[in-house]
Amino acid sequence: MGAKTNPMKKQFAFLCTVILACSSLIQAQKSSNKPPNIIVIFSDDHTQQTISAYGKSLMQTPNIDRIAKEGMIAKNTFVTNSICAPSRAVLLTGKYNHINGLKDNGPRRFFDGNQQQVQKLLKQKEYQTAWIGKWHLQTLPSGFDFFRILPDQGQYFQPNFINMPNDTTSYKGYTTNLITDFSTSWLDKRDTSKPFFLVVGEKATHRNWMPAVEDLGAYDAQQFPMPDNFFDTYEGRTAALEQDMTVNKTMTIRDDLKMNINYDQPGMFGRLTPAEKLVYKNYYGKIALEYEKVKSDSIALIKWKYQRYLKDYLATAKSLDRNIGRILAYLEQSGLAENTVVMYASDQGFYMGEHGWFDKRFMYEESLKTPFVLKYPKHIKPGTVVNDIVVNIDFAPTFLDIAGIKAPAEMQGKSFLPLVTKSGKVENWRTAMYYHYYEYPQPHKVPPHFGIRTMRYKLIRFYGPRSEWELYDLKTDPTEMHNIIHDQKQANTIIDLKKQLRSLIVEYKDTEALQILNSN
Ligand code: CA
Repeated sequence: MGAKTNPMKKQFAFLCTVILACSSLIQAQKSSNKPPNIIVIFSDDHTQQTISAYGKSLMQTPNIDRIAKEGMIAKNTFVTNSICAPSRAVLLTGKYNHINGLKDNGPRRFFDGNQQQVQKLLKQKEYQTAWIGKWHLQTLPSGFDFFRILPDQGQYFQPNFINMPNDTTSYKGYTTNLITDFSTSWLDKRDTSKPFFLVVGEKATHRNWMPAVEDLGAYDAQQFPMPDNFFDTYEGRTAALEQDMTVNKTMTIRDDLKMNINYDQPGMFGRLTPAEKLVYKNYYGKIALEYEKVKSDSIALIKWKYQRYLKDYLATAKSLDRNIGRILAYLEQSGLAENTVVMYASDQGFYMGEHGWFDKRFMYEESLKTPFVLKYPKHIKPGTVVNDIVVNIDFAPTFLDIAGIKAPAEMQGKSFLPLVTKSGKVENWRTAMYYHYYEYPQPHKVPPHFGIRTMRYKLIRFYGPRSEWELYDLKTDPTEMHNIIHDQKQANTIIDLKKQLRSLIVEYKDTEALQILNSN
């Protein structure tokens, strides 16, 4: 005889099953409705010419490429002011530097943290927020739940980090590796019930390009062709003629190219551990023999400097790309990949010998552009390519858009999501961008300038030490060697571009530029 089932018990069991089913449904609903997490990997001076997702590249970057392959790549992404600290201020505020107050890396570097910033707005949607790595603003981060930042430029080896609220501690290791370690350990400890916004601030690939010991010499077997305009004579371009940022004259044999270093002195090389010193000494000791052979022959020396510059820069970028791969692997292993937006961008581009230069600042293509790839598995189709003009003022409004927050009117950029989530052209998307650079004369004697870049043309107005215009037709002159401002055939184009420039200056409320424009 079987046991008699108690009808009350049966009902109770049924009720429990229903409740459990409902709660797991609600849970699933909740997690699918949970705003996506956002990771912004924001590097320094890392340029499109060295990223294989951009096509013709000096090296392979498999991990950055993966982000592009699984999501999107924006080919025409520009910065408003091609220099480190101001670019970070734009990332935080979505505003031009004349509005957010941070115009250069020098005395005007004070960033007012009291102003509205993207992380403060994301908090309204309960995002947990963190900035880990290079920060480069003189004031400490505000409005983040967590920060651990490099002071100023930071160091490549055994770096100091400033911990909250304001304690400086030295850590053992290579900076790019440490920044990844700190980022993943913050992710491990976060409150998993909330979405997160994490900025991974990379020091790489900033000057003086010190790779992790395992990457030293990674590109030594390659000879890199010099850009066609490496020996540019700057005809018709006075500002370009007067700069101080050439591989030939400005790049230093000692600190940049690491010859004849005294590893026992304090400073960036003195920070290496004894074991790291041994590897660095051995490696650059052999290179020094090459240097001895070329140093008295000026042309051979320039060529050698160019090769050495590329080899150190690219090896440093290799360390960076590997660490980006570590972050992607972490997201997969922890089940976060599906609901996490991953963005990779730099604070600006960089010259890899074009016009004979390293560094940035000029409104010319190599430093005006920045790499920008992003994956957003739920909304962006793998392999999406964006050719429209995206500007770094758009980053902050885009993060807000992803989180479902309306960007405040004071932000000057706009979310680029419609460009990749809607089919067809987005009406009223910008067809030109505005640029304004300030830092002068130190450290590279690039005069202040502002200008406009459309899909075809670029018009630049230099001011300060000189008052000059430059015009380039990017269709016929993509490397910007021919300033055609005095070409009569361009008269109508110039009138039209000046009109557009004025209207952007008014729209972005750049009163200083407007005064200059009105003065002649
Ligand atoms: Ca930079």
